[in-house]
Amino acid sequence: MDCLFCKIINKEIPSQIVYEDDDILAFNDIAPKAPVHILIIPKKHIDSHAQLMEEDTELLGKIHMVIKKLAVEKGISESGYRVVINCGEDGGQEVKHLHFHLLGGRKLGLDL
Ligand code: AMP
Ligand code: ZN
Repeated sequence: MDCLFCKIINKEIPSQIVYEDDDILAFNDIAPKAPVHILIIPKKHIDSHAQLMEEDTELLGKIHMVIKKLAVEKGISESGYRVVINCGEDGGQEVKHLHFHLLGGRKLGLDL
């Protein structure tokens, strides 16, 4: 499949990986919008939030626990952070592989 994030998962495209397990990969965003800007993705290809299935419930929980741990590791757990999911055209989703943005390290406005 011609998917940028699947290529990152398969190490066909390099990335700065900050976390990896059997189901989840996390890496630094190539164009960071904040001092901490990490993308957390399921290794299973899911097009977008709108394509989530009931069977993905456990995976979603695991992703959130990884995000929480990364926030502690990056020192933004106490100062605060934002988790963003862009979905579809109006949501501004550019890469069609479900991903969670973890943003922090500065005060974020509504438009980041
Ligand atoms: P979205 O607009 O929610 O689809 O977010 C896609 C994100 O992927 C953007 O923040 C991009 O900066 C980021 N991105 C695009 N290509 C790469 C790459 N090769 N490595 C890391 N992040 C990327
Ligand atoms: Zn993919």
